Amino acid sequence: MRVLVAGAGIGGLCLAHGLLRAGVDVRVLEREDDPHSRYQGFRIVLNGPGLTALRACLPERLHPLLAAVTGPMAGERRVVDAQLREVRRLGAVDEGTATDRHVLRRLLLAGLGDRVEFGKAVVGYTERADGTVEARFGDGGSAIGDLLVGADGVGSAVRRQLLPEAEVVTVPGNSVLGRTPLTERFAALVPGFGTVVAGAGVSMLLGRMEFRRPPRLAAEELAPDIRLPDTASYLRWVVMLPGLAPAEPKDWAGIRGDLLALLDGWHPDLVDLVRGADVVNSSALTVRYAKPVPHWGGTRRVTLLGDAIHPMPPSGGQGANTALRDAELLSRSLAAVQRGEAELPAAVEEYERRMLDHGFAAVAESLERLPDFTPAR
Ligand SMILES: Cc1cc2nc3c(=O)[nH]c(=O)nc-3n(C[C@H](O)[C@H](O)[C@H](O)COP(=O)(O)OP(=O)(O)OC[C@H]3O[C@@H](n4cnc5c(N)ncnc54)[C@H](O)[C@@H]3O)c2cc1C
Repeated sequence: MRVLVAGAGIGGLCLAHGLLRAGVDVRVLEREDDPHSRYQGFRIVLNGPGLTALRACLPERLHPLLAAVTGPMAGERRVVDAQLREVRRLGAVDEGTATDRHVLRRLLLAGLGDRVEFGKAVVGYTERADGTVEARFGDGGSAIGDLLVGADGVGSAVRRQLLPEAEVVTVPGNSVLGRTPLTERFAALVPGFGTVVAGAGVSMLLGRMEFRRPPRLAAEELAPDIRLPDTASYLRWVVMLPGLAPAEPKDWAGIRGDLLALLDGWHPDLVDLVRGADVVNSSALTVRYAKPVPHWGGTRRVTLLGDAIHPMPPSGGQGANTALRDAELLSRSLAAVQRGEAELPAAVEEYERRMLDHGFAAVAESLERLPDFTPAR
């Protein structure tokens, strides 16, 4: 059995590892030209079934490296005002482990070699009379497999063809996502799990991405055949501004200028945090989510996972966790097919029904938590 995966993101790569473990032939087709070609280094909190799924798919020899390039996600949640005076405490939590998307993606690429092909944008597919599927690329090429998995993120080309009526909604409002190197001064802003700065009409969410070990050095020591990026610990911050139209596309200098004007009079540590942001990994943030879709009935040689089918606001911290859960579930279903214990169409349909259930439950939960992230007007 050969599986084609559109998209070498968190979910697609996790699936590829799960399939290789099960002895299934897999080819991952990624639109980007290389693993570094766009902004993508934000903090991701992994927990519960998502983390378990990742560990189940990732080769065991990489588990110590995964642990080394994560950071703690526990402690008190505080709300402060724009002068950093504590307003209230929200209680302590322990929510799993933090990692950086770019670092995690590089870790997930380890051991996949030329099974991952960059510069291959999947633009559509054809289900063939012999029961196979042909994925077509933007460069005119194509590939044939027994199953095509659209793991191609929120703008999924595979979803657009399979479910043209599926709706993805953009949440009104402007958000900005930034990250600033973690110095002692900025670390003091987040003594526990996280800090919410509640300003007048603007909130700022602060959280640490503090790697247990610097990723590049950890890889050199624990898995010398793997190169991880030289990413230093950082403080990630999100500024939410409700009720405005989505921002005009602007470069970072423009966005930062607008933000600094809004933060006029705020505590100098917060102003300097924005001033000192890493230009490459800070940007405007568009928040989108999918409306629930029922199972499409019947089984096809094409399926979906992760943000390609159930994108959700980052407020629930569940998008990547759910993509990982999908990936592990699908790889387990396909492993049974590979062993001759199940038929492909039935295995895919069972996966889809379970994935739709837990995926859209996570979307609903993330939407419920969205107001916690937006300031009172
Ligand atoms: C600021 C922020 C914070 C977040 N925090 C968390 C968190 O704490 N916890 C959590 O669980 N989730 C979090 N998320 C959500 C999480 O990042 C996503 O849900 C997750 O990355 C989805 O994984 P995916 O593999 O489905 O899609 P992606 O990771 O988006 O990967 C899709 C891949 O497909 C490629 N692609 C796109 N189109 C094509 C095409 N036509 N052909 C081939 N390849 C294509 C893309 O280049 C990309 O590599 C956060 C998101 C944001 C924006």
